[in-house]
Amino acid sequence: MFDKILIANRGEIALRVIRACREMGIASVAVHSTADSDAMHVRMADESVCIGPNSSAESYLSIPALVAACEITGAQAIHPGYGFLSENATFVQVLEDHGITFIGPSAAHIRIMGDKITAKETAKNLGIPVVPGSDGGVPDYETAKRVAAEIGYPVIIKATAGGGGRGMKVAQNEEALEIAFRTARSEAKAAFGNDEVYMEKYLQKPRHIEVQVFGDGKGRAVHLGERDCSLQRRHQKVFEEAPGPCITPEQRARIGGICADAMAELQYSGAGTIEFLFEDGEFYFIEMNTRLQVEHPVTEAIFSVDLVREQIRVAAGLPMEFRQEDLTIRGAAIEVRINAEKLPNFSPCPGKITQYHAPGGLGVRMDSALYDGYKIPPYYDSLIGKLIVHGRDRDEALARLSRALGELIVDGVDTTVPLFNALLAEPDIQKGDYSIHWLEKWLAKTF
Ligand code: ADP
Repeated sequence: MFDKILIANRGEIALRVIRACREMGIASVAVHSTADSDAMHVRMADESVCIGPNSSAESYLSIPALVAACEITGAQAIHPGYGFLSENATFVQVLEDHGITFIGPSAAHIRIMGDKITAKETAKNLGIPVVPGSDGGVPDYETAKRVAAEIGYPVIIKATAGGGGRGMKVAQNEEALEIAFRTARSEAKAAFGNDEVYMEKYLQKPRHIEVQVFGDGKGRAVHLGERDCSLQRRHQKVFEEAPGPCITPEQRARIGGICADAMAELQYSGAGTIEFLFEDGEFYFIEMNTRLQVEHPVTEAIFSVDLVREQIRVAAGLPMEFRQEDLTIRGAAIEVRINAEKLPNFSPCPGKITQYHAPGGLGVRMDSALYDGYKIPPYYDSLIGKLIVHGRDRDEALARLSRALGELIVDGVDTTVPLFNALLAEPDIQKGDYSIHWLEKWLAKTF
């Protein structure tokens, strides 16, 4: 096992990793930008190193600074958290060249899944169901017309180099296809410097269902059920739950088994998430994230596992602590993302926290790096906390969420808490009846 791990991240996820290290008896090294010198992760780690100025590009994304920080402190491994360098294959390669262990999958797996076309092709070859569409890039309008006729309208045209939900165009019929195809290409060129696009059948009212997988890198892999993350604004998740309220045990076992087998065949190492759109009982692969997700705690709650501990163990060459048959679901869990944002436009709202009080009690977990007097810097994302609740069933989790939100105090900045209070009053949310379009429609009429 490692003696010392460096955490190449900030905020609540850095705390999350430090906590796992401490329980495992591993020393932790925090890194920080100048703006973050008073941040909680710096205070909580055993050691800390300033790796650069405010901007992420010169600090949390600086590979040379991170390698130097490992060399200065003697850290043997890096946990990347999520975001920043967590899905950067070059980073993984550089660490390998320096004899530093990356706590995550191989550079090759990150690279395959980081490219939309190779990801989809790989998924398909591994037996994972994908959205019907073009096999790879669509070079011209004539091909686009032929592909659309084969898969049927409506279709979606997506930039191969796209990301974050950008660079997508929907065509309802052949008349609309030409303009959609040409705009998608020129926008892709302008936004990503690459005009290659591909096509898929456009699903009308899908849910976003993602399967948590875990591999030991040696051909053993398991799944830990699914999360429903359909409640999104501009493709950003705001409310996540596990298990998915619309997924039956049979559907879970089927898609989970397919995903676990695929990861075993790939010899995938560590935590990963396979994302699907789900409609009319069918799963359609959209992408795989080769890292820990923001919403991993809902899975931890219902399976009573520590995914970060497991990531560290597997990276150190130890076997996974669970087998598929050990993994049974207990109850239901919900996470809400508390952002320092001002409604109704969700504009970032950095500033000083004058008072912070975290909720507690049975089944409540608050992952946050806030403290009284903390100044949220304007340079990074606006996530300031995740409130996770666990109940014996979904109704209990909802009641607990409402109770915990009532206890939470974050004074000094605007937050997304009022959004969640309003959501909890909605019959559709109470029933779990929502698609990926629900939140945007509701926001348009409510706020
Ligand atoms: P990105 O990497 O830009 O996030 P994704 O391929 O993951 O792109 O798609 C982002 C979102 O776009 C999905 O979560 C979904 O809301 C929507 N989307 C993507 N593909 C389809 C599709 N075939 N049909 C309907 N919606 C889609």
